Amino acid sequence: MSDTFDFSGKIVLVTGSSRGIGGAMITGFARCGARCVVNYVNDRDGRNKADAERVGAKLEDALVIECDVADEQGVARMMTQIGSALGGLDILVNNAGILRDRTIKKMTMADWDAVLKVNLTGAFNCIHQAAPILRNGGRIVNIASLSAAMGIFGQANYAASKAGLIALTKVAARELAKQQITVNAIAPGAIETEILQAVPEDVKKQYLQQIPLGEFGQVQDVVNAAMFLCSASSRYITGQVIHVNGGMLMP
Ligand code: NDP
Repeated sequence: MSDTFDFSGKIVLVTGSSRGIGGAMITGFARCGARCVVNYVNDRDGRNKADAERVGAKLEDALVIECDVADEQGVARMMTQIGSALGGLDILVNNAGILRDRTIKKMTMADWDAVLKVNLTGAFNCIHQAAPILRNGGRIVNIASLSAAMGIFGQANYAASKAGLIALTKVAARELAKQQITVNAIAPGAIETEILQAVPEDVKKQYLQQIPLGEFGQVQDVVNAAMFLCSASSRYITGQVIHVNGGMLMP
């Protein structure tokens, strides 16, 4: 499906695109003709840099930028770099996200703060700093989660951050509408990624029983939804949440 879209001439930034859903997403945009910016956050052993460079090497003329989305100054530098190197930005996907699951009783303030800082403040930083370089008719997609609507056990910090992200989506949609910039969110359910591979088989079985379509989602299912929301076909859709969850929750 993603190959049916044409993003020629568009500049796209997907945060946290060194691997997982973000890596597949930036690759999808590049396949459809976009000029892409791969973003990664530095880690001690350099794995993210290596992963991001591997993703970037497969794309034509991609820019690879190290930036922690939680760092306001770093995000400002990233947007300035994109503006100077590429002349502006058409599509921003706020995909970077982390988990620090624990029950509320056991959750530390550090666990709470870390998740809010990346998942919610990070997206705010990116929207705030991208605004000056976002072109009219642009697109913002925020990757939320099923957890925002369901309140999954052990995810107080994560669910709250993603629910906040949905609220931020709606405010940004109103504020940027005068430039014909649309802002939407995608709330993925259980998607086959590294995280799911680590889940015990009996827990996976329980999840599957709750999914009417009877299978876990694929990374490409999330990519397809993002492509649609960033395409010309979605010009009249803004401030919405698309649930990609096989029917697990029908809010
Ligand atoms: P991954 O952990 O594979 O990808 C997240 C990416 O974001 C990683 O590259 C990560 O790097 C990066 N990242 C983390 N912190 C920062 C930061 N401060 N600045 C920049 N980049 C950062 O997860 P997924 O691909 O599975 O998830 C992608 C998005 O989809 C996330 O927002 C997640 O919450 C959401 N989601 C995923 C679901 C799933 O089933 N997989 C379900 C619902 C929502 P690193 O981890 O190395 O720091």
